[in-house]
Amino acid sequence: MTYEIFELERDTKEISIEQAILNLQQQQWEFNDNYVDFAGVNAAYDYAIELLNKQIPKPRKVIPDPNYLWQFQCPVCDQILSPAFSFCPHCGQAVEQSK
Ligand SMILES: [Zn+2]
Repeated sequence: MTYEIFELERDTKEISIEQAILNLQQQQWEFNDNYVDFAGVNAAYDYAIELLNKQIPKPRKVIPDPNYLWQFQCPVCDQILSPAFSFCPHCGQAVEQSK
């Protein structure tokens, strides 16, 4: 007697952060069109979208500095960044590494 093994097809689709943001925004619009927000759902969508946006690396600002030739600044909060940082320790924004 043989048994057929059916593998459950799980949704393992990987999506980009940008697509995840668009999906959440679409869900948020649909929620706001159809429901009254008694439980802070809208704020939860805002937090999730904001945090996902911080995962998308942005170019650092490069500013001239007479002592070090230049310094790097966070593109969001303008704090000075160590060249080694890939995330701003002040606001959590992902930053592009220099090439
Ligand atoms: Zn920052």
